[in-house]
Amino acid sequence: VKGAKTGRQVESYQTQAFTLARERFAMETALRRAIDDRQLRLAFQPICDLATGAIVSFEALARWRDPQGVEHQPSDFIPVAEESGLIVPLGRWAMDEAARTLRWWDEECGGNCGMRVAVNLSAIQLQRDDITPVVEAALIRHALSGDRFVLELTESAIVTDPDRIAGIMHGLKALGTTLAMDDFGTGYSNLAYLQKLPIDILKIDRSFVSGMLADRDKIAIVRAVLSLAQALGMRTTAEGVESNELAQTLAALGCTFGQGYLYARPLEASDALRMIVAARTASSAS
Ligand code: C2E
Ligand code: MG
Ligand code: MG
Ligand code: MG
Repeated sequence: VKGAKTGRQVESYQTQAFTLARERFAMETALRRAIDDRQLRLAFQPICDLATGAIVSFEALARWRDPQGVEHQPSDFIPVAEESGLIVPLGRWAMDEAARTLRWWDEECGGNCGMRVAVNLSAIQLQRDDITPVVEAALIRHALSGDRFVLELTESAIVTDPDRIAGIMHGLKALGTTLAMDDFGTGYSNLAYLQKLPIDILKIDRSFVSGMLADRDKIAIVRAVLSLAQALGMRTTAEGVESNELAQTLAALGCTFGQGYLYARPLEASDALRMIVAARTASSAS
């Protein structure tokens, strides 16, 4: 009886693993089609100067609504894209789409709209694609200068092959782009890279920021990251800024930028443009 029970359990684990693999494969197939059929779009979330509240840039975030109308979350489909290698065409699309949108905003504003756009680069994309020419091609195609872009990398990109990544980062800097370290504090890399690599901005992960007002440990980590960044001459962006009190505290601690639901959720490109136009009108009136 005991043996039979174990046998059934093994079978059910195998069935579960099989179901999971099949779901992944189904998503991979659907995602491949989504990239070809242009089911993907970018949402744009403002990043603000914490001291003044002025919008300085927008982070481009991938969105996928399938033909059945289901909205898939990046936390579900980005890992599938990374495992399957689809992150390479997805990432190329995101870079080009971000540049196309920024160009559109510029035209609507009758010149430079004054915003930068931040694009996420996956570690897998940096491993498998020749990223510098991809970025350069998007800049040329949409007649934009490199200083209009922030490229967000994660610590996992650095861990795999630090020397190669250093070369790539210098190449991206040579295009005029700003480099940000995303989700800082959640990776496993050694800190020596901070001093060696051309990083301009540290983005402090939301897991430390949200709830820090009620948690001594979190606020201690945020303070430590801010002083590290200041010592190394880097600017900082706090993710997950959801309240005014949090924004004020972060500004008082010397954090440069904030991103979060306090300012806005990720927006459709046309709504982001409305926000840019409204901010420009307000500042030219004063
Ligand atoms: P991320 O780069 O750290 O982006 C910030 C995430 O935090 C976004 O989630 C954003 O919607 C969310 N967020 C912003 N403010 C708040 C807040 O105040 N509260 C809360 N609870 N959440 C907030 P999203 O859009 O679901 O994206 C998740 C992750 O997927 C991104 O994290 C990024 O790692 C990845 N991702 C999204 N688009 C792309 C892409 O085009 N390429 C690559 N490689 N990764 C992408
Ligand atoms: Mg990001
Ligand atoms: Mg982030
Ligand atoms: Mg994050």
